[in-house]
Amino acid sequence: MAARQAFAQPLSASRQFSPSVLQRLISSLAVLEQREGKLNAGSLSAVTAAQKLGGSVHCFVAGANAKPVAEEVAKVGGVEKVVSVENAAYEKGLPENYAPLLVENIQKGGYTHVIAGHTAFGKNLMPRVAALLDSQQVSDITAVENENTFVRPIYAGNAIATVESSDPIKILTIRGTAFPAAAAEGGSAAIEEGADPKAESSVEWVSEELTKSDRPDLASASKVVSGGRGLKSKKEFDRIMLPLADSLGAAVGASRAAVDSGYADNSLQVGQTGKVVAPQLYMAVGISGAIQHLAGMKDSKVIAAINKDPDAPIFQVADVGLVGDLFDKVPELTEKVKSS
Ligand SMILES: Cc1cc2nc3c(=O)[nH]c(=O)nc-3n(C[C@H](O)[C@H](O)[C@H](O)COP(=O)(O)OP(=O)(O)OC[C@H]3O[C@@H](n4cnc5c(N)ncnc54)[C@H](O)[C@@H]3O)c2cc1C
Repeated sequence: MAARQAFAQPLSASRQFSPSVLQRLISSLAVLEQREGKLNAGSLSAVTAAQKLGGSVHCFVAGANAKPVAEEVAKVGGVEKVVSVENAAYEKGLPENYAPLLVENIQKGGYTHVIAGHTAFGKNLMPRVAALLDSQQVSDITAVENENTFVRPIYAGNAIATVESSDPIKILTIRGTAFPAAAAEGGSAAIEEGADPKAESSVEWVSEELTKSDRPDLASASKVVSGGRGLKSKKEFDRIMLPLADSLGAAVGASRAAVDSGYADNSLQVGQTGKVVAPQLYMAVGISGAIQHLAGMKDSKVIAAINKDPDAPIFQVADVGLVGDLFDKVPELTEKVKSS
């Protein structure tokens, strides 16, 4: 189903120009994520989305050690300029001071489109940027139709809305699985020092506790094995799911019921209110297939499901299904994978 949700305002002036003139008028800023001087390669999806708009593509990075990140980004194919701000105050991407920083640089650069990932960083930052610019953010887009028109899933992915924005500066967050990361090589962009308004922040970063894992990152893994409430306890979740993940070289995911019951960390939640993944293989173990879970994994290339209930809704989206008790079937499968 497609819905067209046009904001009741006149079309922007850019509509009146020919396509080649328009391309020159479009200028996008992709806001990239970094941690401790290392680029989050997944955020290069924002560059791909910017390239789809046409026009010039600039990137923005900020943090304690932004210079090496800017140098890495300068090599990304199709990027004209990298705007970089080196200041430890922006290291954690706190929206309270990062938003005024970004707004200052957006205004200085005269950008028509500002794009970030629909990640914790982007979801935290971009609404504040949009509010400061009095712009209506368009969130979680999966396609660019033209410079004003974007496609986004609504109702947990059960409907697709085509949204037209007439704001002079479009503030967009993009679904990473819908835009492959731009090629890390092939470019030679100029690096420019951005403006730093050194805005006061009402909040202070105190500490963080990060889950450390040698397994692939859930958001970008090519294989994901997810466990649900059917695992019954954290002990059983770890006993059954972790060897399966290791045998396949897969990331571990979980349903919200499994997370809420304490079987898995909430950074592993897949779904409408968790991460959206689209790996080559997604294996759902003891997961019923509620629409909110499907919203986070139904674009996976191959979906396999193990469930003791033959009528479980997960089998309606699964390419491969195994009806049986997961406590028998999964250890058997793990052994077979290991020995193959
Ligand atoms: C606003 C909102 C947002 C939400 N966001 C999310 C989200 O992001 N992600 C998410 O996952 N959910 C989300 N939910 C919750 C969602 O509606 C479901 O409640 C949840 O996905 C159910 O998780 P589950 O499949 O693990 O549990 P259940 O629905 O309880 O399913 C457990 C499954 O395990 C099977 N099973 C049990 N024992 C065995 C066994 N021994 N062997 C094999 N199979 C077995 C059962 O047959 C059953 O199908 C959201 C809900 C709301 C209202």
